[in-house]
Amino acid sequence: MKLSLATALVLLLAAAPLQADRFKDVQVEETKLADNLYMLSGAGGNMATLIAGDKVLLVDTQYAELAGKIKTKLQQLSANRPLTTLINTHLHGDHVGGNSALAANIDIIAHNNVLSRLTQDAKFPRNGLPKTTFTDQLSLHLNGQTVRLDYMPPSHTDGDIVVWFEQANAVHFGDLLFEGRFPFIDVSNGGSVKGYIDNTRTLIGMLNEQTKVIPGHGQLTDKAGVQRSLDMMEATLAVVQGYKAAGMTEQQAVDKGLGQQWQSWHWNFITEERWIKTLYHADVSADVN
Ligand SMILES: [Zn+2]
Repeated sequence: MKLSLATALVLLLAAAPLQADRFKDVQVEETKLADNLYMLSGAGGNMATLIAGDKVLLVDTQYAELAGKIKTKLQQLSANRPLTTLINTHLHGDHVGGNSALAANIDIIAHNNVLSRLTQDAKFPRNGLPKTTFTDQLSLHLNGQTVRLDYMPPSHTDGDIVVWFEQANAVHFGDLLFEGRFPFIDVSNGGSVKGYIDNTRTLIGMLNEQTKVIPGHGQLTDKAGVQRSLDMMEATLAVVQGYKAAGMTEQQAVDKGLGQQWQSWHWNFITEERWIKTLYHADVSADVN
């Protein structure tokens, strides 16, 4: 049963050729956060683009099948300037799938662990691999705009960064936020439930009421939206750890469920059952991520 998340991911990846039709009707749409900053959505993880003079920066690339539509949208928003820098928030295929098609000839920046894990994936195009990596923090200065990349300790994976757009008071959380949904915590790629909750709490402390928060999945949100996600995780973790302390098996915990209050967070990838199993196996001891 422990393999269920990994198995689901493998099945999703194996089904990739079948998804070609799915992308046919996908539109890449922008949400304006500032004069030069947009959130972009299509299929897969939300992207962001910053246009700073002759510099055009993109955060994440969704899927290779969408590269043409993403490029068209970037050209519209940037008055046909070429993309100059790509940042990857982490290694998952719905965030890096378009790397090769969009950024083979420009700088691609990610955490060290993203490069090492993607390098081990023989199917990942070599010209889509990160070229610049870092350990803790990296700042980019693009024609007066400051973009700060902060590494976060193991949580969604072991290579998660958040991207701060300082002048716009905006931040891309990568998959450290699934807005309004149960999050995916990829233990097989170094993720941790405790790390995910701790990072969420840390990040809330870095936001103010006006900060615009781009989630990896879901709608543009703010500090209150991140707080709702934290409240959900803390409450449901307490419920499931309580079941475990009472001697319930994983299946008994699943059968008992989380109750009506959290139903709206259930979605097709991380169902209530999967979230309960994730929480059931969470290592919540103080000194272990
Ligand atoms: Zn992810």
